[in-house]
Amino acid sequence: MDIMETYGEFVANTYARFPICLIGGKGAELFDENGKLYIDLGSGIAVNTFGATDEKWQQAVTDQAKRLQHASNLYYTGPSGELARMLCEKTGMKKVFFSNSGAEANECAIKAARRYSFLKYGEGRHTIITLKNSFHGRTITTLAATGQETFHTVFGPFTEGFKFAEPNDPSSLRSLTESGDCAAIMMEMIQGEGGIYNLSREFVEEAKRISDKKDILLIIDEVQTGNGRTGKLYSYMHYGFMPDIVTTAKGLGGGLPIGATLLGEKLKDTLIPGSHGSTFGGNPICCAGALSILSRLDSKLMEEVTHKSEYIISELIGSKGVKSISGMGLMLGIECERPVKDIIAGCIEKGVLVLSAKEKVRLLPPLTISYDELKKAVAILKEEIAV
Ligand SMILES: *Cc1c(COP(=O)(O)O)cnc(C)c1O
Repeated sequence: MDIMETYGEFVANTYARFPICLIGGKGAELFDENGKLYIDLGSGIAVNTFGATDEKWQQAVTDQAKRLQHASNLYYTGPSGELARMLCEKTGMKKVFFSNSGAEANECAIKAARRYSFLKYGEGRHTIITLKNSFHGRTITTLAATGQETFHTVFGPFTEGFKFAEPNDPSSLRSLTESGDCAAIMMEMIQGEGGIYNLSREFVEEAKRISDKKDILLIIDEVQTGNGRTGKLYSYMHYGFMPDIVTTAKGLGGGLPIGATLLGEKLKDTLIPGSHGSTFGGNPICCAGALSILSRLDSKLMEEVTHKSEYIISELIGSKGVKSISGMGLMLGIECERPVKDIIAGCIEKGVLVLSAKEKVRLLPPLTISYDELKKAVAILKEEIAV
């Protein structure tokens, strides 16, 4: 039985997979079981920050695997403490809770926000406002937080206490925060799964103003936008404000599962022993990998991300079949005349892996992709868009 047949028989059918079985790679180059090469403009959905099998990351991970793979949170281990310190030093946040995924990072943010509000204001002030068209994860609670009706069927009853504001409409945010039952506002600075939609400066400033005035916590979901993806360490940094909570995952581990919930000044003492936990959270191998990634997301690399972004945009803007380009840094959405599934299939045929987000082509290449690879891949993408 070959690999795809085995999946067909034994793996839960939750994904519409492309008929490719990837078995290896180096940087932005991947190869499948038949030896066919691909240039990767998806990074396993913004996960492989430095591409496949990055040597420094590999060294950090294997060194830790040889030392100790897990110890439980009943004891101290080295890497998670180091990683928490580095995250706090680079952001100004005060404490970090580690989990294993983006959904769990958001679960922790929701729990921390509700606990903060409960301890300070008592019962009932628990509503969390998120945005229409957002995506916050696949657990029952993070689905409830996700502002898309299609996710709110079949699996009910869902967690209560979420309301949805219209993105980029400050008046919608104002009216939803008037009732006094609001604990937090949670949002992505660029809606990823929703189709790469950037929040406007005006909207973000209004959210911050309301948050400051009413002690409504501002939670920024940086699961996809974080860890250098947009040309800053975290995308909120483009807007010049301090969130109360930042959640991240995907690119932080460079390919290993990790989630992190960064708690600001107001929340630094909110979580106490027994209030939250995770068996694998802070796993030393995942944290060693993340330390290798995070320590190299410096201003030089961020400039490189910005330049590569400018290159992609300059190649595609005004090119045949391209209607618009959204996003920031190496998180770009390209609205095309041709159906996105045909473009993806055409690119695969020619050895380029791209993603979709709703109706758009979505690009999330490794931050370290070479200009040579980028040039080749963008030329092929341009051809396929123009068909
Ligand atoms: C992917 C994603 C999540 C969910 O992350 P998982 O690791 O799949 O649980 C949450 N929020 C955003 C913005 C995402 O892009």
